[in-house]
Amino acid sequence: MEKSAYKGVFVFVEQRKGIIQNVSLELMGKARDLADALNDKVYAILVGNKITDKAQMLIAHGADVVVCADAPELDDYLTEPYTQAIYHIVNEYKPSILMLGATTIGRDLGPRLSARLGTGLTADCTKLEISEEKELLMTRPAFGGNLMATIVCKEHRPQMSTVRAGVMRKLPADNSPKGEVIKIEIPFKKDKFRVKLLKSVKEKGAMVDISEAKILISCGRGMANDEGLKIIDDLAKTLKAQVSASRAVVDAGLVPHDRQVGQTGKTVRPDLYFAVGISGAIQHLAGMEESDFIVAINRDKTAPIFQVADLGIVGDAKQILKQLNERLNG
Ligand SMILES: Cc1cc2nc3c(=O)[nH]c(=O)nc-3n(C[C@H](O)[C@H](O)[C@H](O)COP(=O)(O)OP(=O)(O)OC[C@H]3O[C@@H](n4cnc5c(N)ncnc54)[C@H](O)[C@@H]3O)c2cc1C
Repeated sequence: MEKSAYKGVFVFVEQRKGIIQNVSLELMGKARDLADALNDKVYAILVGNKITDKAQMLIAHGADVVVCADAPELDDYLTEPYTQAIYHIVNEYKPSILMLGATTIGRDLGPRLSARLGTGLTADCTKLEISEEKELLMTRPAFGGNLMATIVCKEHRPQMSTVRAGVMRKLPADNSPKGEVIKIEIPFKKDKFRVKLLKSVKEKGAMVDISEAKILISCGRGMANDEGLKIIDDLAKTLKAQVSASRAVVDAGLVPHDRQVGQTGKTVRPDLYFAVGISGAIQHLAGMEESDFIVAINRDKTAPIFQVADLGIVGDAKQILKQLNERLNG
């Protein structure tokens, strides 16, 4: 089939227990830009069980068309039923572009789909644009984050990419557009279902999603001991902030991995980001430099973190945070 016959910018909409995940709304915002540049339409792929009523929300966030597969087989995420559903939809509609969130679900589904479809997949993109030749330019960090590589999928369709939460911006909801909702039946091959979900058990002390936090206080190696973490925790309580960390601190086992900011952690975009005792390695900056306001505290005035900071404080972070906390409470 000719490349030009593939149409539409498609977003796989991730939902968990019927709740649409923010990353998918962010992708819809980007899909809108790309579709406008191609003079094409945005399609949301909505799959789940008793999920059709969520279609309107996707239209409000930028979809022209919602392709909805509503079936009991699609209740909780399982690799095979979801792969079969999206594969069927892609074969019916022949999208030019297909985007997924770089979440645990997107990272499981994306590669399986790309293999089944015989096309490429660029993971963890930080920038997506349309070239003059109308190809999708997919940019992502390469060689440990030391350079950015722009990848083009010239020979195959759809052009597939995953994007992490927090990288793109979602559009404000607008309830005026009238989109189209298409219901689609999936001809499941149930003999291929090899995994059955018996029950889901929520981890105790529920995981924190730092990518949703408004204020983050991030602990670096310069504060990575019991005293430093206690000072950070105290300030976090005062500011109603979440605590995150650099990889050095996560690798030392002091903070769990789901709170790591950076290339191999999460991308965050809070209103206020404190980088405390963090040098500002490129892999850390990749995850936080889009924050609205960055406060860096470091005793080394040449630390690279100061290059991205809106406010830089040179000094001992322990003393500075203690004083700040006292003032805020005083
Ligand atoms: C492929 C790859 C992926 C990576 N992914 C990530 C990632 O996702 N996230 C990430 O963070 N890193 C990542 N890294 C690691 C990254 O390169 C750095 O090693 C790491 O970010 C350093 O963490 P840090 O800034 O806390 O520690 P350091 O670089 O050791 O910096 C500590 C800083 O604390 C300051 N300091 C010390 N004491 C005090 C004090 N009392 N008061 C104030 N300041 C003080 C020092 O001046 C120094 O600047 C990755 C590396 C690779 C190769």
